[in-house]
Amino acid sequence: MTSLYLHVPFCRSKCPYCDFYSVAGNEAALRAYPGSLCRHMELSREAGWSGPLGTLFFGGGTPSLLSPEEIGRILDAGARIFGIAEGAEISLEANPGTLTLESLRGYRLAGINRISLGLQSLSDVRLRRLGRSHTAGQGRQAVDWSRKAGFNNLSCDLMFALPGEDLSSLRSEIDAFLALAPDHLSCYGLTVEEATPFYHLHRAGELSLPEEEDFAAQFMALHQWLAEEGFGHYEISNYARPGFECRHNRRYWQRRSVLGVGAGAHSFSAKGWGRRSAAAADLEHFLNAIARGEEPAELLEVFDRRGAMAETLFLGLRTDAGVDEQEFRHLFATGVAEAFPRAVSQVGARLSLREGRWRMDLEGWLLYNHLITSFL
Ligand code: SF4
Repeated sequence: MTSLYLHVPFCRSKCPYCDFYSVAGNEAALRAYPGSLCRHMELSREAGWSGPLGTLFFGGGTPSLLSPEEIGRILDAGARIFGIAEGAEISLEANPGTLTLESLRGYRLAGINRISLGLQSLSDVRLRRLGRSHTAGQGRQAVDWSRKAGFNNLSCDLMFALPGEDLSSLRSEIDAFLALAPDHLSCYGLTVEEATPFYHLHRAGELSLPEEEDFAAQFMALHQWLAEEGFGHYEISNYARPGFECRHNRRYWQRRSVLGVGAGAHSFSAKGWGRRSAAAADLEHFLNAIARGEEPAELLEVFDRRGAMAETLFLGLRTDAGVDEQEFRHLFATGVAEAFPRAVSQVGARLSLREGRWRMDLEGWLLYNHLITSFL
């Protein structure tokens, strides 16, 4: 069983904080894109990838800029080329403002069974501050229409640590999200990425973000509030009601094979110690390579045993499941503490072995990017 990620690098407009690869306003390329994705799947099969597919994920960008018919065509091609397993999870990222009740019904009919809505906020003031092109009303309507269209696995994105946000405004935000009864929430703190308009505003002193301790307080509060509402905090940025954890994303954190197709998509093959490849984040380059019948992905990294051990920890410790000591031993013929004695002692009390699994505690997750470098 493998997984398929389909990258759709198109957006209506570019949000000023976003450094993901996506292009705005190239209608001709957008309409040519589904055919190129199908061809990329064929080239991947010729290169040795096989099915059946247990999870599929349309991510972006804004995949909901593709019509239900286009999504249906891509899924038919996926079924023909690799086969899609019974009960496969098939997710689509969608932005409010690109959706109608009819299009959502169409996606559902095409086979999408999990929808992930890029709401980010339910306050018009905050959405404007973020430069998003939709309103809070459109966000609410997208949730309502998704339910009406038959999506019973629904996720929302929420951004916290926004300029001017404090615990009380975050509490109101969370209450507004909870009123929509999502099954899953992805909560990301706003970060300022280089070469984005927000970066320049920040440097010019025109955008102030919460201080570190305010960020920490908001991260901790989210954990507590959502736990009280029955959400499991199953990965640093992800919460789910029991049974609604994203199966596709779990595969990344478990370091299992995921084929990525599309411009800028990454693939990981778990064969050997693992290898990672990616198609360049360049739409023209991607479309031209596909038109010539050439595989657009290039090899980025072939892991050795040490690299595979480090990455198993880097990915696994992000999750509530952590890293199973026995499985680690079985794979690498050594235990975590034997392989990384210095890192385990440096991370100290934030990391522990309980019931056979290594796990970070909540504070460890808060400091994750800093702590995990001890293993790299
Ligand atoms: S819609 Fe998403 S991917 Fe597109 S520019 Fe905005 S944040 Fe980036």
